Amino acid sequence: MQSKTNLFGLERSELERIACDCGESAYRGRQIFRALYRLRASQFGEMAVLGRAFRDRLAGRFSIVHAPIRETCPSQDGSARYVLGFADGEAAETVYMPEPDRVTLCISSQAGCAVDCRFCFTALMGLRRNLSAGEILGQVYSVLEDRKIERGTRLNLVFMGMGEPLLNYDAVMHAVRILADRDGLGLSPRRITLSTSGIIPGILRLAREEVRPKLAVSLNASTDEQRSALMPINRKYPLEKLMAACRAYPQRPRERLTFEYVLLDGVNDTVADAQRVAGLVRGLHAKVNVIPYNSGDALPYRTSPFERVLAFEQTLRDAGVPAFIRISRGRDIRAACGQLLVEGARKPITAIMRPAALPSLR
Ligand code: SF4
Repeated sequence: MQSKTNLFGLERSELERIACDCGESAYRGRQIFRALYRLRASQFGEMAVLGRAFRDRLAGRFSIVHAPIRETCPSQDGSARYVLGFADGEAAETVYMPEPDRVTLCISSQAGCAVDCRFCFTALMGLRRNLSAGEILGQVYSVLEDRKIERGTRLNLVFMGMGEPLLNYDAVMHAVRILADRDGLGLSPRRITLSTSGIIPGILRLAREEVRPKLAVSLNASTDEQRSALMPINRKYPLEKLMAACRAYPQRPRERLTFEYVLLDGVNDTVADAQRVAGLVRGLHAKVNVIPYNSGDALPYRTSPFERVLAFEQTLRDAGVPAFIRISRGRDIRAACGQLLVEGARKPITAIMRPAALPSLR
């Protein structure tokens, strides 16, 4: 039996074409788009606007599949880590973080990641594959449905889960356009943040987009030597060029670039590091999120003592840089920043040992 084509994840123009192929007007495709993304229909029977006969024809050829939830791990702090499974057996993780006045979802753009940041658990998986736009959107819709989050709830989306979003550019932007569409999820692009390890061509391309999420750059070091040791991608896109791309990035009124800086005990967490970071971001309309590392047994890095975290933040502030300590949520369920890793999808241990490449631990 031929498998049905999943309509979830298709853009308006693709749905218009499908409607026309079915002998209907393009307008019907736009109605399907609205039903899928705005009204969150998960079955053709819920698309009353289409008429019974057309709905039945669609149901015979097409399906509506979000990202099926394989596992939910609730945290004591109210957040939850979801493992979402896809048709080919791959999976990705999504983190749900409720707050009194809003909900934040941290979503993945790839299953695994090829960028290989030395402190990141996802890197231990290697890159398994890119996620499709439907699989990216499916994470959002599956969690909204599971948590019964009503339309009108203040929602923030951050591409800070598994993967480097700018290395899956087309699918990520396809998903962003649907999320931001008035007949899609209707989310302001200002409520969507894309975090990158510093893929300069992707930043330059993003700068030209009409619908553009906010940009966050994962910095994590104050010199090229230190950054190349922690994030090998820095050899290709070194700090000077990265900061130049950040300076050229267009910003909307009242918007700031975000730099994320994960503090690793004895590696990148001195006052001198903070001073150099202040020098790097000087002149930019930016803020720095200072993130105490979330450690785990599989990697050699440890969390900096809290006095050092405070001193780092204060040094940045003294230099006139807005800086904020961010304590990750979901630490008890391995959902915190840098901790996402689909169990069983890790590379063999021989493939991840790289002591020569580790920076010295002072
Ligand atoms: S920190 Fe982000 S870019 Fe780096 S390896 Fe992890 S998921 Fe990939």
